[in-house]
Amino acid sequence: MALVIIRQDGRIKLWKEALLAQQPDLEVYSYLENHPKDEIEMALVWKHPDGSLADYPNLKLIASSGAGVDFIFEDNTVPKNLPITRVVDDMLAKDMSEHVLAVIFSHLKNLDRYRINQTKGIWQPMQYKRISDFTVGIMGLGALGKELATDLVKYGFKVQGWANSKKDINGVICFAGESGFSGFLETTKIMVCLLPLTDATTGILNKEVFKQLPKGAFLINVARGGHLVDEDLLEMLNNDHLSGAGLDVYHQEPLSKEHPFWHHEKIQMTPHYASVSDTDSVVPQILENYNRLRKGRPLLNEVIMDKGY
Ligand code: NDP
Repeated sequence: MALVIIRQDGRIKLWKEALLAQQPDLEVYSYLENHPKDEIEMALVWKHPDGSLADYPNLKLIASSGAGVDFIFEDNTVPKNLPITRVVDDMLAKDMSEHVLAVIFSHLKNLDRYRINQTKGIWQPMQYKRISDFTVGIMGLGALGKELATDLVKYGFKVQGWANSKKDINGVICFAGESGFSGFLETTKIMVCLLPLTDATTGILNKEVFKQLPKGAFLINVARGGHLVDEDLLEMLNNDHLSGAGLDVYHQEPLSKEHPFWHHEKIQMTPHYASVSDTDSVVPQILENYNRLRKGRPLLNEVIMDKGY
C-alpha cells in the first residue's frame, strides 16, 4: 500500500517531508516522479490536475489536504464511490478566525478607507463605529464558522449564524435551513460566508440576498469564489446598499488583471490566503486515516457524498 501526493502549487516536497517525519516507513510518492501506480491506495490532493486521479486502478481513498472538497467533485473523471476525507484542524480554524477578525476590525475602525484617503492626502475623520453597533452573521456554522462565532462573542459582538441544521452555540443566535434564511439576513450588518461550495450554495451571495441585508451591510467572503455573483456585488456596492466587501476567494484564481474588483475602492482583497493547512498540524490526521484505511477501520472527517461536504 502506498500514498501519492498530487498538487500543483510547488508544495509536494514540503508535504512529503512532513509525512515522512511523522511516519518514516510510509511509502509516499509525488505524482510527478516514477511510481508504482497499482500500489497507490490513497491520494493526498489539493487542486490536482483534472484526470490525474483516474490513473490509479487500486485507489481506495481521496484525502483533501484542505477543508474544502469542491475541486474533487468538479473533476468528473474522479472514480465514483470512493470515500473522500477533508481536513478539520484547530489551527486552520484559529487562522481563519483571526483573518476574519482582522477584516471586521479594519471595517469597524475605517482602516480600509483611511488607507485610501492617505494615498490621496485627505484628512477626514469618519463616523465612529463600535462593536456594539454590529451584528455579525455567519453563513455556515461548521468547523470554521463555529470557531469564528465563539471568538466574536468573546469580543462582545452580537453574533448570529445560519446552517443546514439547528445549532446550539453559547451566545450565538442560530438559524437553520431555507426557512431561517430571511430572519438571519434582515439583522446581519456584517455577513461572513463560510459555507462549502455545493450545488445548493453556488451563487448564494447574490442580489436578492444582498437586498435583504440592512442598508450599509458589509460582506466577507472567505469560502469560495463560486458562492458570489460578482456583478451583483458590484451593483450593490455602486448603489451604496452594501458599504464594502472583504474578499479572499474568486471565480478565477489568480484573479484576471482586468477584473473590476482590483480597483474598486470598497473592496479589500487578499489572494486566497485567509487560512492555509499547516503540514505539521494536519499530517497526524492524514496518517491516522492512512492507517485506518490499511486496517479497514472507519475514517476521520469523511465527506457525506449526498450533501457534497
Ligand atoms: P464544514 O463542513 O465544517 O461546515 C459547513 C457549514 O455550512 C455547516 O454548518 C453546514 O450546515 C453549513 N451548510 C452547508 N450547506 C448549507 C446550506 N445549503 N444551507 C445552509 N447551511 C449550509 O466546513 P468548514 O467550516 O470546515 O469549511 C467551510 C468552507 O471554508 C470550506 O468548504 C472551504 O470552501 C472554505 N475554506 C476557505 C479557506 C480560505 O483560505 N479562504 C480555508 C479553509 C476553508 P450543517 O452543520 O447543518 O451541516
